[in-house]
Amino acid sequence: MEKEQPCEAQGERSTSTADQRQGGEAEVMYEGACHADALGAVPPPATGEGVLPAEARLSLEGHAASSPQDIDGLGALGPPAMGEVVLPLEATRPLELIDVCVADASPQEVSGLVRLLSTHAPSAELRHLKRVCRGEGGALAVLLWARAPRPVPPALHAALAPLKLRAAAVPRHAPLTRAQFSAWGAVWPVHFHESAAAAQLAKFLPPPHAAEHAQIARHMRAAVRLAAAAAARGGAPVGALLVRPSACAWEAADARGASQPLRHALMLCVEQVARDERARREQLAGGAEGRKRPECVGVGRADRAEEHLCAGCDAYVTVEPCAMCAMALVHSRVRRVFYAIPAPEQGALGSRFSLHTEHALNHRFQVVRNVLREEALAELAQYLRPGEAG
Ligand SMILES: [Zn+2]
Repeated sequence: MEKEQPCEAQGERSTSTADQRQGGEAEVMYEGACHADALGAVPPPATGEGVLPAEARLSLEGHAASSPQDIDGLGALGPPAMGEVVLPLEATRPLELIDVCVADASPQEVSGLVRLLSTHAPSAELRHLKRVCRGEGGALAVLLWARAPRPVPPALHAALAPLKLRAAAVPRHAPLTRAQFSAWGAVWPVHFHESAAAAQLAKFLPPPHAAEHAQIARHMRAAVRLAAAAAARGGAPVGALLVRPSACAWEAADARGASQPLRHALMLCVEQVARDERARREQLAGGAEGRKRPECVGVGRADRAEEHLCAGCDAYVTVEPCAMCAMALVHSRVRRVFYAIPAPEQGALGSRFSLHTEHALNHRFQVVRNVLREEALAELAQYLRPGEAG
């Protein structure tokens, strides 16, 4: 709200010069009658545009061991290149604005108006915003409704008639991090429930502890070796491991080809887990002999959630998985995924899509990208094909 903008409601036009920030309480919003043409030129407030919260990039370097020798083999890399957690879009997006209509009001007018709005003009769309903004000098602005045209409820006519209505731009989304809350709240007061936000992010945090870095690096290097071997055979430079904490592991190199386009490294790993699980069940049933590592699958399962193939497993893969592989990991309930090289065009875990954070799916998990990225690129860059995901 850097400069005044007119806003029309019920044929009245009025303006205000107040630049109002911060303020009081409000709970329910309304979408309605500001004219879109009067709002289109509202400039974004200089205080909040383009803010990228610190939580957007949770570098793992802060969790690294204190000296290179503490983490096997990483000393040669300089700073440990252990990547960053891929958080949901809601936690990383910068400020986006939505045009609304507000009314400048005196303290005496505010409480009655807010009460009327709560009853006659609720809005789920703007529920994350407080109804009243207190600006410099104590000036008050009351949020009325979004710009979408809608007749003003008759019950509000009398209350709005003496007030100045104007356009404003306010945060479009509810904040999910404290950084977003601080930055966006400078534009217009927003609600923030930190415990609820923390619960929403719990599936993706915290990043792996420094004590795990050596093991993560070891597994990723194994994946890089598999990828290099696959690439040397003319395949895609993708190698993958599925690792269960009990030290069992399944590994595969990419084997896709014209006649077998689905034989991606991760799919082959999941296939191996399924084969071992089948052998385990046959063994339990007194049937066929166990396979190579049947004891690795299903040991200690206590509930239905752990009946899925990859429950408790971590996946390591050189290139960001495609949507097919990512969905296989969703369905098999993988615990975490580490990958080295993002696939901007087709990657499904942070680039093109972020399936691991998708609310519509019934399993979400942690993803760490750029793990040993430079080292993997040094080995595999010559084999990478534009647009190809892992
Ligand atoms: Zn794939």
